[in-house]
Amino acid sequence: MPKKILVAEPFLGKEELNNIKKAIVSGWISSKGEFIEKFESEFAKYIGVKYAVSTMNGTAALHLALAALGLKKKDEVIVPDLTYIATANAVLYTGAKPIFVDVEKDTWCVNPIAVEKAVTARTKAIIPVHLYGHPADMDAILRISRKHGLYVIEDAAEAHGAEYQKRKVGSLGDAGAFSFYANKIITTGEGGIITTNNKKLADNLKMLRNQGNSFSKRYWHEVVGYNYRMTNLQAAVGVAQLKKIDFLIDKKRKIFDWYRENLEELNGVLSLNQEKKFAKNVYWMTSIVLNDDSLKDKLMDYLDKKSIETRPFFYPVDELPPYKKNKINNPISDFLAKRGINLPSGTRLEKKDVDYICRQIKSFFAVQQK
Ligand SMILES: *Cc1c(COP(=O)(O)O)cnc(C)c1O
Repeated sequence: MPKKILVAEPFLGKEELNNIKKAIVSGWISSKGEFIEKFESEFAKYIGVKYAVSTMNGTAALHLALAALGLKKKDEVIVPDLTYIATANAVLYTGAKPIFVDVEKDTWCVNPIAVEKAVTARTKAIIPVHLYGHPADMDAILRISRKHGLYVIEDAAEAHGAEYQKRKVGSLGDAGAFSFYANKIITTGEGGIITTNNKKLADNLKMLRNQGNSFSKRYWHEVVGYNYRMTNLQAAVGVAQLKKIDFLIDKKRKIFDWYRENLEELNGVLSLNQEKKFAKNVYWMTSIVLNDDSLKDKLMDYLDKKSIETRPFFYPVDELPPYKKNKINNPISDFLAKRGINLPSGTRLEKKDVDYICRQIKSFFAVQQK
């Protein structure tokens, strides 16, 4: 049996190890140390914003951004129904209510028309999610936000380096939130960051992440904050990872191309990630959407037996137990969730691995057609 081909794996090397060693030797292993500010300033520069504030994970980044913008009870925040649960949880942590709207069939990202329809007098913010590496339609979303006076927080946890009309995601809204979990485009083990051009917001984020401590007076806490700080060890890995980001994104795009060429002949049976004219997709996960939903579990089982790991798309969040009472009918999210599969997309994959995976997918459908 060949070794299992995984959906994702981190791409780590000597540089990460050397930086970690430096951090250990220096003794600075908590949230002070040379790597934290270095990682923040280099990440801000990469995204094309003035400020980046690191956090202990991506969920904390989302929550901190919402908290710093003053979200509270009775407020409503519009989020796509098809996303990872953290997007909605972050809203709930502030006391506000997530309003789930449908996504688009081609980009899998939030549908601006559905967003506009969901705006009420209580709406305070929109969280577009750049799902699986494709940017949401930001111009349309920003137009709605300006018209109604809403904040836009981009959930860019799956889309480091993705572009909307040549501008990187995370630089388009009031704030962008990223995750550096081990399966994300770059990783710090656990980790997150918030990007923004707003100095006041950046200062507020820094204060809140550090227990609400005043900048000028030690142990003087202005407000109830959080301990959401990133460690110097995480940042040490992040600094090394950031040097590889362009290579990693190029590899993700190459892997997608290998799949696309291989699976072209299954055109009537499944579709792959799209890339809109306005977009640079970073293909965090090359994914397929089957026409026939009854084949999804069968195909996943079949590939599992061939040592190929796959993952189903997220469930629509409003189907999950904590959110069921907010259930709205979002037909496209339901459609995609029933048919979508993430294929192995780790940056260590070689062409022969993708060829093998595609051969197995084709042999599965060949048998189905008999
Ligand atoms: C990974 C992810 C998050 C949360 O990041 P963590 O670092 O795991 O807390 C949030 N939103 C989306 C869309 C994600 O994929």
